[in-house]
Amino acid sequence: MLRYRIIPVTPFAQNCCLLWDDATREAVLTDPGGDLERVLGIVAQEGVRLEAVWLTHAHIDHAGAAAEVARRMSVPIIGPHPGDQFWIDALPEQSKMFGFPRAETFTPDRWLHDGDQLRFGTLHFDVRHCPGHTPGHVVFHQAEARRCWVGDVLFAGSIGRTDFPGGNHQQLIDSITHKLWPMGDDTVFIPGHGPESTFGEERRSNPFVGGT
Ligand SMILES: [Zn+2]
Ligand SMILES: [Zn+2]
Repeated sequence: MLRYRIIPVTPFAQNCCLLWDDATREAVLTDPGGDLERVLGIVAQEGVRLEAVWLTHAHIDHAGAAAEVARRMSVPIIGPHPGDQFWIDALPEQSKMFGFPRAETFTPDRWLHDGDQLRFGTLHFDVRHCPGHTPGHVVFHQAEARRCWVGDVLFAGSIGRTDFPGGNHQQLIDSITHKLWPMGDDTVFIPGHGPESTFGEERRSNPFVGGT
């Protein structure tokens, strides 16, 4: 069965998440943006075996510590989509601009594309490409548990910013309505910042995409 624990990291309180299969104790980390000692302490505390880092997109608060986790834990970096290459290349500048510890660039061991499948333990995830916030943003959907990790595509009561280079408002709205809504109203999503919500709740009440 899927278990997970949200670990807010960096001054942006970004929701890094530890996911694991409680049958096999295999685990992945999504979006390890920073605060690595605390994150790896929680991995040890839960007694799970880290298999990979999965990235939704390459903004500093999501990807800033990915290279270091990969090196220290000898695990691959999976994702995001190649559209975020320029954000990965800019990680050292992003860290300087926001006063973060210097972030390393990296080359993902595997780029992701719409329709790809990921697995760890007995759990399968579907990858959807959801551009708009960044060109290479992806989300991770676990259909059986009705959970989706959406990064900065959608938040409880809000949507991702589109005023960064490569951002596109209409693309973001299309990603939400064409890729996320079909996963079902009862799907709980874990956003990159803030509390969880359901797609149904956002369809009803989100001022940016409500009524779509
Ligand atoms: Zn972002
Ligand atoms: Zn973010």
